[in-house]
Amino acid sequence: MKKTILLKYGEMALKGLNKHHFEALLLRSLKAALAPFGGFDFYTAQSTAVISLKDDDADLDAVKSAVSKVFGIINFSFAYELPKDIRAIEEALHDAIGEDLLRAKTFKVNAKRSDKKFPLKSPEICSHFGEFILNNYPHLSADMHNPDVTVTVEIRDNSAFLRCTEFEGACGMPTGSNGRGLLLISGGIDSPVAGYMMAKRGMWVDGIHFFSYPYTSELAKEKVITLCKKIAGYEQKLNLNIVPFTKIQEAIRDNCPEELSTIILRRSMMRIASRMALEYNCGCLISGESLGQVASQTLGAMICTEAEAKVPIFKPLIGLDKNEIVSIARKIDTFETSILPYEDCCTVFTPRHPKTNPKLEEIIEAERAVDFETLEDEAYRNIEFMKILPEVYD
Ligand code: ATP
Ligand code: MG
Repeated sequence: MKKTILLKYGEMALKGLNKHHFEALLLRSLKAALAPFGGFDFYTAQSTAVISLKDDDADLDAVKSAVSKVFGIINFSFAYELPKDIRAIEEALHDAIGEDLLRAKTFKVNAKRSDKKFPLKSPEICSHFGEFILNNYPHLSADMHNPDVTVTVEIRDNSAFLRCTEFEGACGMPTGSNGRGLLLISGGIDSPVAGYMMAKRGMWVDGIHFFSYPYTSELAKEKVITLCKKIAGYEQKLNLNIVPFTKIQEAIRDNCPEELSTIILRRSMMRIASRMALEYNCGCLISGESLGQVASQTLGAMICTEAEAKVPIFKPLIGLDKNEIVSIARKIDTFETSILPYEDCCTVFTPRHPKTNPKLEEIIEAERAVDFETLEDEAYRNIEFMKILPEVYD
């Protein structure tokens, strides 16, 4: 009796001829996610990934938590792999799920049979093992609608699998199946959620953070690193680039009209981030903007900001309300970090009356007062690069 995890594909189950490509990426992610937790064997068959546990003393809670963050999986369960033999399954039932059955009051048996040569058909599997359980655990009664325990007997091409509790997977598409994007990450609530949402669709997410020391503190930088570790939990590693932004901010403060300063600052971010995206093969930028949230996120302001981007900007939160964003931030455990009270470069030197509907010509005119080319070249040369691993490596 081999202890395994059965993982059912989400959307990728619908892929046709290139399904193998998605499966290879899924296995790569699973291997990387489980690397800290012992030895495992991996294979895919019949729209399912199977992980065999080689160590009996693997930390199953840690394994469960790591697997639940791998994109491409709709649900998974710990399962026992057995010979396709009725007696073998009966014997395994006691060892594998006896304890669950002892704790329960009601149960149900589910059957899945892809091997059509197996002597019992699905309804017969259900009634056979249902009867077997009732005979051996007489305190139980069957409940087809709301059972405490659902026992699933799955007869697949190579083996039988016996499983019980099903856990929710991370859904989405396997990491790396949908290109690479560069996330503009601040320390706030929105941008980590935006990164998670694109990562969920299979995009490798790198990060770029604009850092204005000493106006923003080392603690603010640590906060961004912690947020990146949380996103890395979903893609196993993340490249973070930290841009020294102080001189550019000071130049804007000293030389540009205050009411346009946020947009001018954001246009500079777009130029630097675009340059990095093009150099490191990121097909797009990702930002956490939500329409109308603040003055720099009106349609007019975003048109002016975006005019400086050399690659598309993906904004997965554009149509979400703040409370919807917060509920995702809580789910991915970034919220508590995001609300720590360290300032971001967009919040220092904030104009008292930012222009909500700026005209591109007036902005371009105002930018003439600063030699952005020289300042941005210098910032770009001094970018600090960090490879971020998930929190389990701390
Ligand atoms: P967030 O809640 O993510 O901090 P925000 O609500 O503070 O965003 P803005 O400050 O207008 O809104 O920023 C909008 C987007 O610009 C952010 O979601 C993020 O993608 C990007 N951004 C803001 N500040 C930075 C920064 N210091 N470094 C990198 N990207 C940033
Ligand atoms: Mg925001």
